[in-house]
Amino acid sequence: MGIAEGFIDRLTQFLGPKGILTGPGDLEPYTVDWRKLFPGRAACVVRPASTKQVAEVVQICRENAVPIVPQGGNTSLAGGAVPDASGTQIVLSLARMAAIRSVDAIGLTMEVEAGCVLTNAQNAAAVEGRLLPVSLASEGSATIGGIVAANAGGVNVLRYGMTRNLVLGLEIVLPDGTIVNGLRHLRKNNAGYDWRQIFVGSEGTLGIVTAAVLRLLPRPKHSVVALLSVADPKSSLELLALAQEELGDQISAFELVSAASLNLVSKHSGLKVPVAAGEWFVLMEAASSLSGLKDGAEAMLGIAFEREIVLDGVIAESAGQASELWALREHVTECEAREGKSLKHDISVPLSAIPDFLRATGQALAAGFPEARVNAFGHLGDGNIHYNVLVDEGLSSEAITRIVHDTVASFGGSITAEHGIGQYRVRELARYSSPSEMALLSRLKHVLDPQGLLNPGKVLLR
Ligand SMILES: Cc1cc2nc3c(=O)[nH]c(=O)nc-3n(C[C@H](O)[C@H](O)[C@H](O)COP(=O)(O)OP(=O)(O)OC[C@H]3O[C@@H](n4cnc5c(N)ncnc54)[C@H](O)[C@@H]3O)c2cc1C
Repeated sequence: MGIAEGFIDRLTQFLGPKGILTGPGDLEPYTVDWRKLFPGRAACVVRPASTKQVAEVVQICRENAVPIVPQGGNTSLAGGAVPDASGTQIVLSLARMAAIRSVDAIGLTMEVEAGCVLTNAQNAAAVEGRLLPVSLASEGSATIGGIVAANAGGVNVLRYGMTRNLVLGLEIVLPDGTIVNGLRHLRKNNAGYDWRQIFVGSEGTLGIVTAAVLRLLPRPKHSVVALLSVADPKSSLELLALAQEELGDQISAFELVSAASLNLVSKHSGLKVPVAAGEWFVLMEAASSLSGLKDGAEAMLGIAFEREIVLDGVIAESAGQASELWALREHVTECEAREGKSLKHDISVPLSAIPDFLRATGQALAAGFPEARVNAFGHLGDGNIHYNVLVDEGLSSEAITRIVHDTVASFGGSITAEHGIGQYRVRELARYSSPSEMALLSRLKHVLDPQGLLNPGKVLLR
């Protein structure tokens, strides 16, 4: 079915020229995902400037049965924020709703519009000496609406939890155009069902996030960053356990990166690895406002060397050096994309099962696809590994993903720990969830969006 005559005119009249894009060149950046795996087409891109305008656009779309794809920074690695190829969907970009409405340094909250870029929100908190702890390599483009809708994780989940743990209040436009204002700055609120959490991680399929109240933390005064090489994943878990024993919850990030991942980074970015090679590397950060953090970290590393858990390592001596160490980790995704096509498996398994999972998956892949190259890295402290497989022409993507996801399932894991379902894993979700779970998801979707107009084909099959 095509778009009803007069639909675009009505939107243009209502939003004005700044609020709508229709030229093919203007639409392109909004219709192709970050990985360029899902090139779509859109009837237009709307760019409302207020919650009222979002609600009105939703009403107009509803009257004309036009599907809407909400979009923030379009950094989804799961093809979640782009339209299908039909040309009958519209993209609703939140880019013009980017205000930071307030930062409450005493109450430790901030209220931000959905289109605000994550870095801008982090900086606004930092100016007040506060920390917004969501941190991702895509933070220069990802938006507040996007991190809420995707329930983004990132490198600080170990200490602060996923975005879900930081959302105190939300403003949502429902698929029928109703505005629900739940922008409360409260730590405790047991009044009725906690409906916020249904929208967090719903990937734009249940409602449009227009603003959020986020929890902040006092900004730690000191931090220590270290890059360490270890012989194998088991040693990295021993190191995590030791670090937590010695430094407690000061550990804010604990990332595992394979030597193969760092080779890709060196090859494509030219960055140098300042640590003698092991098969695996750990990038860890600890942060605290108490003095003595560095001494504590050095003492912990002394024990790790003594017990031969760590092979080699370096502690950053300055903020600049700390950024250089972090750059190695942050470039992995981008350098993998430069290397060529990859199959992304954003898996999680119980923490203690990680070494066995890596061994079992590696063996099964080597047996079936000896030429497949694995790029494994991720948030070890959360049991979340990006087990990506670089695939050259002729390798069966389906069969490789089946090996990885079947192994994940055999360890009681999840096929996506943080990147979400989008279009990329929509069949995998149906395959690895129980029928009763899928039925519950479909019922929730139907109650909120009976016409199926919000981000169709994402999360749930049409
Ligand atoms: C280099 C790189 C590194 C990354 N690292 C991480 C990482 O460590 N951890 C992690 O979790 N993710 C990571 N990501 C994935 C991605 O950046 C996050 O999922 C991020 O939260 C997406 O934000 P966005 O604004 O770009 O959202 P988009 O990509 O625009 O959208 C993501 C999903 O949310 C929906 N959506 C967007 N805005 C709204 C809104 N206002 N209301 C309702 N729905 C909306 C979209 O429809 C889509 O389904 C990474 C991506 C890249 C490119």
